Amino acid sequence: MSNVLPGREAMMTTYNPPNIAFERGEGTWLYAEDGKKYLDFYSGIAVCAFGHAHPHLVAALKDQADKFWHCSNMFRVTESEKLAKRLTDNSFASKVFFSNSGAEANECGLKVLRKYQEAKGRPERKRIIGMTSAFHGRTLGTIAAAGNPAHTAGFLMEDEGYDQVPFGDLEALEAAITNETAGVIFEPVQGEGGIRPGTAEYLRGIRALCDKHDILMMVDEVQCGMGRTGKLFAYEWSGIEPDVMSLAKGIGGGFPLGACLANDKAAEAMIFGTHGSTYGGNPLAGAVGNAVMDLLMEDGFLASVTEKSNKVRAQLEELIAKHPKALVSVHGLGLMIGLKCAIPNGDVLVELRNEGMLCAKSGDNQIRFLPPLNVSDDELDTAIEILDRVCTKLTA
Ligand SMILES: *Cc1c(COP(=O)(O)O)cnc(C)c1O
Repeated sequence: MSNVLPGREAMMTTYNPPNIAFERGEGTWLYAEDGKKYLDFYSGIAVCAFGHAHPHLVAALKDQADKFWHCSNMFRVTESEKLAKRLTDNSFASKVFFSNSGAEANECGLKVLRKYQEAKGRPERKRIIGMTSAFHGRTLGTIAAAGNPAHTAGFLMEDEGYDQVPFGDLEALEAAITNETAGVIFEPVQGEGGIRPGTAEYLRGIRALCDKHDILMMVDEVQCGMGRTGKLFAYEWSGIEPDVMSLAKGIGGGFPLGACLANDKAAEAMIFGTHGSTYGGNPLAGAVGNAVMDLLMEDGFLASVTEKSNKVRAQLEELIAKHPKALVSVHGLGLMIGLKCAIPNGDVLVELRNEGMLCAKSGDNQIRFLPPLNVSDDELDTAIEILDRVCTKLTA
């Protein structure tokens, strides 16, 4: 790689960041070392669910940091036990395994799918069906599950036991299920491959197929869970319940934390010794996770996410009408919003950044709006103003 930024020589070139270094953050704003400030609708890819340096989260982390940081899951971690109880009290699940990241939460879930079948006396059922344009992380198992050639190239054996069907196509899913299938993994709202919500009908159809064949239904809510869509979990919009769910990103508000949730049936075979993690859900992570839950579960908070979504989506529709040469359509659910561009999305992102606003890229030539869930109406207005200015400039 040429053009390595001074100071990055020792970094593996898996990332290629712009030359911006942040110094501090406050709410929806990030401040760079050069004094420039940015409206952060990137949120570290939907991680900073309550923006930067939220006092309640900072206090929880500092308080735990003063007590003790780590003790291993070979001992009780009461903060995480409490968080597990709150997650199960508010979801379909009855059991939780904590990890450090989304990919690891998915790895746990993928193991659950296979272990369930083995415990049922069907060890030949190891294959797992994923969806096209999916993203589940960058471990060997999760790249195999998503099957994106850009991510798998050079890394996998010929057959790792995963199949993919087009997202949204129930017939293709039914046709792909064989007597070697263990389960299905998908995102209720796809994120990286272009923001794409699965319809309630689609999710209900997947549930029915899984029941019919006694295979497990796993939802990857690493990005769309934890309030991002205006419900605590995105599957709730469909009225069905999955067997397994992965969480990460927003769950720690910026502290590395992931979780794999399962119902009793799915979790039963995950007995002592079948899985583990050194750090997963350690006392620091547990303390911050509980603080995030405090904020999410405040009366009326999730409804406010939907209100903000309705407001900003209406504003985006107006911008689309005003700038048909720049913008095409708006997609998503809650504050997980994709804006399909008529010009290259990368150009829009660079110009937004120049104008002091950060957004994420997505597939389908979309840019992603992933503001903190507690973003203010004024900040939403500011974002729309900046985008308006950028569209005018790029299509002049
Ligand atoms: C980000 C993401 C992952 C991977 O999470 P990591 O913490 O990067 O391992 C998995 N699934 C979805 C849907 C994601 O958006």
